[in-house]
Amino acid sequence: MSSSDIKKEISCKDDFDPSSLDADVARQKILENITPVAGTETLPVRETVGRVLAREIVSPINVPSGTNSAMDGYAINGSDIPATGVAELKLIGTTFAGQPFSGQVNPGECVRIMTGAIMPPGTDTVIMQEHVEYKGDTIIIDNGTRAGDNVRAAGEDIAINDVVLTPGISLTPAEIGVIASLGIGEIEVYRRIKVAFFSTGDELRSVGEPLEAGQIYDSNRYLLYGMLERLGVEIIDMGVVRDDREALQYAMKSAASQADVVITSGGVSVGEADYVKEMLESVGQINFWKVAMKPGRPLAFGHIKNALFFGLPGNPVSVMVTFYQFVQPALRCLMGEKYKGLQTFRVKCQSRLKKRPGRVEYQRGILQRESSGELVVYKTGAQGSGILSSMSQANCFIILPMESGQVDPGALVEVQPFFGIV
Ligand code: AMP
Ligand code: MG
Repeated sequence: MSSSDIKKEISCKDDFDPSSLDADVARQKILENITPVAGTETLPVRETVGRVLAREIVSPINVPSGTNSAMDGYAINGSDIPATGVAELKLIGTTFAGQPFSGQVNPGECVRIMTGAIMPPGTDTVIMQEHVEYKGDTIIIDNGTRAGDNVRAAGEDIAINDVVLTPGISLTPAEIGVIASLGIGEIEVYRRIKVAFFSTGDELRSVGEPLEAGQIYDSNRYLLYGMLERLGVEIIDMGVVRDDREALQYAMKSAASQADVVITSGGVSVGEADYVKEMLESVGQINFWKVAMKPGRPLAFGHIKNALFFGLPGNPVSVMVTFYQFVQPALRCLMGEKYKGLQTFRVKCQSRLKKRPGRVEYQRGILQRESSGELVVYKTGAQGSGILSSMSQANCFIILPMESGQVDPGALVEVQPFFGIV
């Protein structure tokens, strides 16, 4: 069924709002609007975990730098391996990693060699010590080893002048190690981006203040802080802003003057005091504000001067879902990273999931291995957008596509593990 057919089919149902954007289209529109930062800085390699590489890394050396032994054993010339039966070789020395053997090894001779030691001149094969018999200062070998075995060639991991890493990758411990293996101490990465955020709502109190009737603690700023901290951006926490046009306008302008990105939560629904969309239209440009998804339908995206603006919904679960589905890919793209697409896979769902066609749903799931060994997913329980504990119990999103209705136990569903996105 095409997406326009789906829209026709479900247009009479409550949940479908024809003015809402498809979530994938929304993500695409956001990513199209982003120009990665141009600024870079050069840093010691150790300080770059989580940063995005700005310039390609070309190897100045071979890794390993010399041909060396992959085993503890005996370095020999492969032509000494007998075609049948055994051969006797004279032991003329020992070599350790970091202590090369300086002499020449002639036919009929061998050198005791440790893993990582450079192959002595005249040798090209290592016989494992377990395959050797000793007889005074000679060893006896059989024909069980082939010439060239148990040797690591110079440059077999990385060859000199190879392009090892390309710009746009987010650096992990493995890349840090690879770069160190090349002897490179400093690298060029994109500058950190600055993200300012604030919560909106007259009912919000900050942690530490007493609560009066009808008030709640502001959890969204903590969620946003945690999610942004993980991304390694520079964080500007601007506190809580009242549901007041002037206060919002002032906060938006001030945030945009200090940051590359402004994120707000709350005030984007259609309630009486939801002014975020209106104020964004007055101080910047709005691109869209409704997405056919649950949770998180009201979502404003736009610009205030040079800053990107994301107006997230107020409910804490919606904040997390919209952050991970839209804001995080956008921030990664702005940070210079190449977008890899959603990382999802299909597993059997053991729970019944309530769902009506007309919007994508991001339910919270627990991926676990059954005693049979099969990996399956369960739902976390109540899926209301105010139930933040469901995010804490979950280890994945169960992504139910727009056209899907209720899911019965045993059906296959698409999951997006938190590992890697959270
Ligand atoms: P709103 O979009 O402003 O109408 O908010 C939707 C719901 O989310 C309301 O129940 C708000 O009280 C709640 N909410 C808004 N902001 C926050 C916040 N910072 N922390 C916790 N809950 C919030
Ligand atoms: Mg509000």
